[in-house]
Amino acid sequence: IATIIVFIISITKLYLSKSLTFINLQEAFISAVVLIVAAVPEGLPTMVAVSLALNMIKLSKENALIKKMVATETAGAVSVICTDKTGTLTENKMSVVKIFSKKELLEEFTEQLKINFVVNNSAEIVKEKNKTSYVGSGSETALLKYYESRTKQNYKVLKNSIVSECIVPFKSENKYMITSLKHNNGYTHLLKGAREVVLLASNLEKEEKDKIVLKMQEEELKGNRVMAFAHKESSIKTDALKNYEFDGFVVLKDKLRKEVYEAIKISKKAGIKVKILTGDNKLTATTIARELDLIDGGEIVEGESLEKISDIELKKRLNNIVVIARSTPLIKLRVVKLLKEMNEVVAVTGDGINDAPALRHADVGFSMGKSGSEIAKEASDVVLIDDSFTSVIKAINFGRNVYKNIQRFILFQLTVNMSAVLFIILSVIFNFGQPFNTLQLLWINIIMDGPPALTLGLGKTENSLEKAKPIKRDTSIVNKNMFIKITINGIAVSLILILQTAFNFLQVPSTMQSSVVFTMFILMQLFNAFNCQELGSASIFKKMGKNKVMLLAFGITFLMHILIVQVFNKAFGLVRLDVLSWVKVISVSLLIVIITEVYKIVYRQTKRIKEQKNK
Ligand code: ADP
Ligand code: MG
Repeated sequence: IATIIVFIISITKLYLSKSLTFINLQEAFISAVVLIVAAVPEGLPTMVAVSLALNMIKLSKENALIKKMVATETAGAVSVICTDKTGTLTENKMSVVKIFSKKELLEEFTEQLKINFVVNNSAEIVKEKNKTSYVGSGSETALLKYYESRTKQNYKVLKNSIVSECIVPFKSENKYMITSLKHNNGYTHLLKGAREVVLLASNLEKEEKDKIVLKMQEEELKGNRVMAFAHKESSIKTDALKNYEFDGFVVLKDKLRKEVYEAIKISKKAGIKVKILTGDNKLTATTIARELDLIDGGEIVEGESLEKISDIELKKRLNNIVVIARSTPLIKLRVVKLLKEMNEVVAVTGDGINDAPALRHADVGFSMGKSGSEIAKEASDVVLIDDSFTSVIKAINFGRNVYKNIQRFILFQLTVNMSAVLFIILSVIFNFGQPFNTLQLLWINIIMDGPPALTLGLGKTENSLEKAKPIKRDTSIVNKNMFIKITINGIAVSLILILQTAFNFLQVPSTMQSSVVFTMFILMQLFNAFNCQELGSASIFKKMGKNKVMLLAFGITFLMHILIVQVFNKAFGLVRLDVLSWVKVISVSLLIVIITEVYKIVYRQTKRIKEQKNK
């Protein structure tokens, strides 16, 4: 629009002064095109790509492998994290801390339990010369480890001596597993699973059941996982899930990761809601959530209870729900979808094959590098090498920084645009003619999109989590504060330039006038790059020297400009400046930094006064 205005004004003036020749028209047209070239931020995509790519590299050193480049930026906007418990919040070093056998709950390791531990188990311990590795779920390898340490025997001896077939493999949806042994009179079915499932399938009397449940709850209240065992003799291979004989239960312990406490605290300060979706029992999950100080009056529900309520009702409650116990991948997917409908930006962690849909639907899906299935990794945007929740928080911090870097770049660009366009329009209106020739505008363009601007985002990664709320997806990337700065600086630059053009207040020799104006414009933009490092209201002087690459880019560009004015001036239609003029130009250009600092001081003061009034 500015270009069209400038073009029309130029032609009208030429026409009125009766000097509308083809040559003049051509000149006005070229100037208009050049103005467009200068105003379009071609550097923006480059800058975004560079910022994202650099953050990808940095994050990979922090245990998060980014698969999709944009995920770095999206992570910055995350407002809700739906996290797993096992492995993500805990160490995933599950171990059996206690066993209770038979309905009398003895300490004895019965034959029935031994067989169930080893045979009804899909995990494996691989022993090589100097390394032992574990394949399969943490809960199951814990059973094998316990068997070996208690019986002092290799579990494979028992496993290989029995012919068995897994009838129902473990699935998070049903939370149990059955393996059957064939013998002459039929089958022995071995059942292991979550306590609700096994107790329901058992033939226990009510009083017996109540007593066992009490004991189980006692363990779950400590944050431990309970897994129960039962068996049944049957003549058919696939029998109903009832009339099982209860064999006992184990208590599995999985310590919370040490760093997680801090990470949860940080996410609270960062205004990010954390929800735990776990397959574990309600008591276990509640204890863990309480230990992490996550509950805060929030609701703890069981997955099953959510199945009955409608989406609309669930949406109303979802805000307040902090823990979903006995959750399934399907519930996870539903929760993610609903949260997204509620305009939240959702991060999800997942490891299982069934987690893939939720990972895909999430705004940012985090899969587990160590314990995760290949399918989960495939479906995710980020792979956590150490499986830890802490890395999720780190990724969010990096994302927020990418966003800020883009803001810095835009702040810089729009200020240059605003001042260039304003100055050119004013010049044409006040009859000062086109202030910059084509080559000069192209040089301005290089500064705008080139090294000083590109290096704006290369400063040290700052902590952007404290006290900052997540940025809503639909908010303008140019915030109010930025808008004010762009306007103030844009007007200041064009005003100073127009005043110099009109009144030569620097009192430079008139031959140098246009070179002085041009140099002043360039230097003010270069100095303004420092202003743009700070998006908030803090003084820039503390930060100024931190971004070394930017200092270098600034230095080189400054030097090149001196060369242009002092050596290659003919090509650019400029004249050499003397030392005194240089000093004057640099001093006035520094005003741009001072004006911004003054604005920030005023801003800080008014904010303080406002805060005091509120108190
Ligand atoms: P999470 O994903 O939160 O670790 P899971 O869905 O894997 O939860 O496990 C839920 C429950 O199912 C556990 O509390 C446990 O009682 C039971 N369970 C877990 N693994 C197995 C297994 N391999 N066989 C039988 N039951 C299991
Ligand atoms: Mg799981």
